[in-house]
Amino acid sequence: MKTEWGGYYLAGRPAGRKPVTVRIMRLGLHIDVMNGESLWWPHEEIRQTQGFYPGEQVRLERGGEISEAVLITDDSFLINLQQIAPQWAKRYHSPPLRARRVARTVYAAAGAVGIVAALYFWGIPALATLLVPYVPISWEERLGESVVQYLAPKAARCSDSTVAQIARGLVAQLTAAENNLPYKFHVLVIDNPTINAMAVPGGTIVLFRGLVEKTASPEELAGVLAHELQHILRRHSMHALIQHLSTSYLLALVAGDANGVASLGSDGAKLLGGLRYSRLYEEEADAKGVEMLMAAGVKPDGMISFFETMAKEGHDLPEALQFLATHPATENRIHKLKSLSQKRAGATTKLIPAHNWEEIKKKCSAPTATK
Ligand SMILES: [Zn+2]
Repeated sequence: MKTEWGGYYLAGRPAGRKPVTVRIMRLGLHIDVMNGESLWWPHEEIRQTQGFYPGEQVRLERGGEISEAVLITDDSFLINLQQIAPQWAKRYHSPPLRARRVARTVYAAAGAVGIVAALYFWGIPALATLLVPYVPISWEERLGESVVQYLAPKAARCSDSTVAQIARGLVAQLTAAENNLPYKFHVLVIDNPTINAMAVPGGTIVLFRGLVEKTASPEELAGVLAHELQHILRRHSMHALIQHLSTSYLLALVAGDANGVASLGSDGAKLLGGLRYSRLYEEEADAKGVEMLMAAGVKPDGMISFFETMAKEGHDLPEALQFLATHPATENRIHKLKSLSQKRAGATTKLIPAHNWEEIKKKCSAPTATK
């Protein structure tokens, strides 16, 4: 077995190049420089920076800022290194494993191509399902924050915070029974006559004044909130956003570029504004929402009666168009909700006396002292 290799030693800046003889030992390399100097490089301090391909010279380096290097052209050096110092084999490239490494690289490249191909052949919907579980909650929160800045900026919110405070209290009550909540929930009420509510990824629910004013009781509002909470908890809104995002945002997401994700605020706000969840998601949010209401001791009747009102009057109200487009108040839906709520008899404490609700719900548009 060959034990000595010729090579070059490089040190200093600019690097001087001196011929050397390198001997492989079990614990390190013994390097004899032509001028008589002897160097001892323990394996644990050596890193290989070149020589990963056939014919490429092997470059070994040691040291920090001003590093020294040894160059060896004969790549049988690496093979013998593996045999003489097997316990350090992982620090060095192994030519016999080269074929396997090439295969891995090819598979990795195929994987990247595969994602792009999947985009075209299966489309983003399939990819969204794959991606969502891997999106960290912290990104979702950042994404949500940037969407909220467009959707419900401070100037657009109701100046009177009574409704928002009540809604936040309801959310706290609804989520009290849930263990390990991944989100910090927040409710914002905007001064807009549209009948609508939105679930923003990361934990914010945006209520429109028009919807609040259309509810006949706090139980109805709780029903809407429970439904929207489920869209967030089950990451429906996150899923829908990814599904409709442009490829550049998707790539930012895949690459872990948090700034790229945060910059989609205005597009995200527009998307969520007219978002239509799949029927499956709507049914899930209804069913789990009813469970949530019951677990919190709130009558699910409110959720049902709100949809009944929408079914009866909604089509004559231009403000309701958006909500109805995204939440069709069909007979089938109402029927399902009724059968779900009858399955379990929940505790039912009244949330707020109804006569007060008529006053409270109009607080947003009521003239305040400053106006
Ligand atoms: Zn919904």
